[in-house]
Amino acid sequence: MIEAAKLTEEFGCLVFNDKVMRQRLPKDIYKAVHKTIENGSHLELDVANCVAATMKEWAIENGATHFTHWFQPMTGLTAEKHDGFISPVGDGTVIMEFSGKELVKGEPDASSFPSGGLRATFEARGYTAWDPSSPAFIKDGSLYIPTAFCSYGGEALDKKTPLLRSMEVLSNEAVKVLKLLGYDDVKRVNTTIGSEQEYFLIDKDFYKKRKDLLFTGRTLIGAPATKGQEMEDHYFGVIKPKVSAYMHDLDEELWKLGIPAKTKHNEVAPSQHELAPVFETANVAVDHNQLTMEVMKKVADKHNYACLLHEKPFEGINGSGKHNNWSVCTDTGMNLLDPGKKPAENIPFLLFLMAVISAVDEYAPILRLSVASAGNDHRLGGNEAPPAIISIFLGDELAAVLRSIYEGTEYAGAGKVQMGMGAQVLPHITKDTTDRNRTSPFAFTGNKFEFRMPGSAVSVANANIVLNTAVAEMLSRLYEKLEGTKEEDLKDKVNELLKEALDKHKRVLFNGNGYTDEWVAEAEKRGLPNLKSLPDAMPYWVSDSSIELFTKHHIFTEEEIRSRYDILLENYSKSVHIEALTIQEMVRKDLTEGIIAYEKDLTKEILQKKEALGSTAAKLETGLLKTLDEASDGICVALEKLAADTKVAEEETDLLKQAAYYQATILADMDELRKYADMAEAVIPDKYLSYPTYGQMLFSLR
Ligand code: ADP
Ligand code: MG
Repeated sequence: MIEAAKLTEEFGCLVFNDKVMRQRLPKDIYKAVHKTIENGSHLELDVANCVAATMKEWAIENGATHFTHWFQPMTGLTAEKHDGFISPVGDGTVIMEFSGKELVKGEPDASSFPSGGLRATFEARGYTAWDPSSPAFIKDGSLYIPTAFCSYGGEALDKKTPLLRSMEVLSNEAVKVLKLLGYDDVKRVNTTIGSEQEYFLIDKDFYKKRKDLLFTGRTLIGAPATKGQEMEDHYFGVIKPKVSAYMHDLDEELWKLGIPAKTKHNEVAPSQHELAPVFETANVAVDHNQLTMEVMKKVADKHNYACLLHEKPFEGINGSGKHNNWSVCTDTGMNLLDPGKKPAENIPFLLFLMAVISAVDEYAPILRLSVASAGNDHRLGGNEAPPAIISIFLGDELAAVLRSIYEGTEYAGAGKVQMGMGAQVLPHITKDTTDRNRTSPFAFTGNKFEFRMPGSAVSVANANIVLNTAVAEMLSRLYEKLEGTKEEDLKDKVNELLKEALDKHKRVLFNGNGYTDEWVAEAEKRGLPNLKSLPDAMPYWVSDSSIELFTKHHIFTEEEIRSRYDILLENYSKSVHIEALTIQEMVRKDLTEGIIAYEKDLTKEILQKKEALGSTAAKLETGLLKTLDEASDGICVALEKLAADTKVAEEETDLLKQAAYYQATILADMDELRKYADMAEAVIPDKYLSYPTYGQMLFSLR
C-alpha cells in the first residue's frame, strides 16, 4: 500500500515520463525528444536508439523482461504482443537488447484485426509506430510502448492515428485564427480531456454464474428486484468498506501508472460507481482511459468483484456513461473556453464558443454516431441518460451574453452572487452564475464542454476525433471570413459573424430538461436529428458532408471512412447476434431447468394438498403453476420466433440492412422472450435458479 506521505514519490513510478527522461537522457537527446512531444516534429534514428537504450535500462531496473507495442485496433479493446529483451549471443548466454528501430516500429500481423476491407487477408503486414507524446509504462513485467497501428498501405487501422491527426488539425486551425486576433506567440493548441468513468461492481461468483454477463456484458433476462434506485439513496452515499478498499487499491494502481485518478463516488444506481481523473492532453487521456478500464477489471478480480463496464448491464436502473470533458488550451496557457470575467468582450472565447456551437449543430449526426454502439443504444434516450438528440446547454449567463450580441444590446454582466445559508455559523459562499443541467448531452460547464453521450465501455477516441475535426472545420471557415479584417474592425466583424452563426445554429441551443417528451417534440420541430440507434445513424458516416469534412482535413481517406463503416456495422450485428444466441441458451437451459424443478415441486404439493384437503385446496400453488405454464407457453413461441429470425439475420448480406434487422427485429424478439422469462423468474424462488437474480447481484455489496 502506498503511504500517503510517499504518494508524490510513487505517483508515476512505473512511467517513463518527462522527469525520468530529463534525469537519464543526455541533454541534447532529451531536448530532441521534448521537441517531438511538444511540436510533433520527426524523431531521428540516432535519437530513438539512445532513448531505447535508456528506456530498456530503466525498464529492467523496474522489473520488466519484455516490451510490447500497445495499440488500439478497431475492436474497441487494446492489443499487445510481447517480445523479450533477451538476445542470444551464441555461447549459450543472452544479453538484453532493445534498439531504436524496435522502439519506433513494430510489425504485428494485421490480418486478424478488423480492417473493413482495407487489407486483403493475404496482406498480413501491419505496422505499429511509437507515439512519443504518450509516455511508455511498465505493467505486468513488460514495458508498454503506446503506438499507432496502420496497414501495409499506410491506412489507419486504429483509433490513435485519426485522433492525433484531429488534434493537429484543430491546433493548426486554432493557431491561424489566434494569429488574426493578434496572439502571435501561440504555436500550438492542445485538446484537453477529462473522462469520468462510470462502472458497476458485483460479486465475482455471481458474475461467473451468468452466461449473459460473461458473453455479452449485460443481463439479457432478469426480473427486477423489489427495490431499485427510487429511494435515491445511492448517489454520493457512504461507500461500503469493501468497495472502499477496492477503490483505494484501484487509485494506487492507477497512480503508479501516472493516471491522475482524483474523484470517486457512488453513482445513482445500486452498485454503480464513478471515477474521474484530472484532465490531460487528449491522446494521453484516451490511452489512460483505456488503461483505467483495464485496471478497474483487474483490481476488481483481486477483490472478488467483477467490474461491469457495459452501458446497460441491468434493465430498469441507470446505465453507465463516460462524460467527456473537453476543452482547448494554448501552449501559452490560455484556456480558449474560459469566458473570463467579461465574456462579452472576450473575442477568442466568443469565436471558439461559436465554432463549437456551429460544429455540434452541423455535424450532429456524426457526433451522435461517434458514441453509437450496440451497448450505448440501450442507454441514450432511456430517461436516465441524455437523449439521442444532440443539443447544447449554455447556461443563463452565456445565453444572455449571446443574446445581447445578437440583439445588439449592452450586456450588463452577471457578477458573483453571495449566498447566505441562514445560519450564522456557516460561511457565505459565492454562487455560480449558472446552475448545472444534468440532462443535456452537451453542456457548457464553466470552462469546458461536457459531452455526456459517450458509453462507458468504449474508447472516447471517436467522440474526440469528430469533435476536434468539426470544430477545426468551423475555425477554418471563420478564418476565411476574418482574414484581412483591420484590427480596429475586428470586434464588429466578430459580432457580425456571431449573429450570422446564431441565426443558423441557434436551434441546437436548449437550456431545459432534455429528458422530457416535450423536448423530443420540440427538437423535431426545430429539425434536430433524433437518431435512435447505430443503424439509424450509420448512413450519415458515409454522407457527402462527412466524407468532405474528414478528407479535407486529412483525418480519414475515403477508403478509411468506408472501411470504418463496414467495421462498425459488422461489429454491431455481431454483438446483437451473440446476445440473441446467449439469451436463447440461457432461457432454454438455465431458466427452463429452474421452471421445471419448481413446477415439479409445486405439482407434488398441489396433489398432496388436494388429497388431504379436497379439490378446492392449494389455490396459491395452483396460481403459481398457472403463471409458470403461461410463461412457458410464451417462452416457447418467442424462442421459436427468435431462432427463426436469427437465421434470417445471418443470411442478410447487405451490412446496413443486416444491422437494421438486428436492431428492429432481433432486439424486439429478445424483448418479447425476456418478457415471458422474467414473468417466470418473478415467481421462482432463488434456490431453483442456477444463476443469481437482480436482487442478489445489486444489493449484496458490502
Ligand atoms: P462533474 O461530476 O460535476 O461533471 P467532476 O469534477 O467530477 O465534475 O469532473 C469534471 C472533469 O472535467 C474532471 O475530469 C476534470 O479534470 C475535467 N476538466 C476540468 N477542466 C477541464 C479542461 N479545461 N479540459 C478538459 N477537462 C477538464
Ligand atoms: Mg460529469
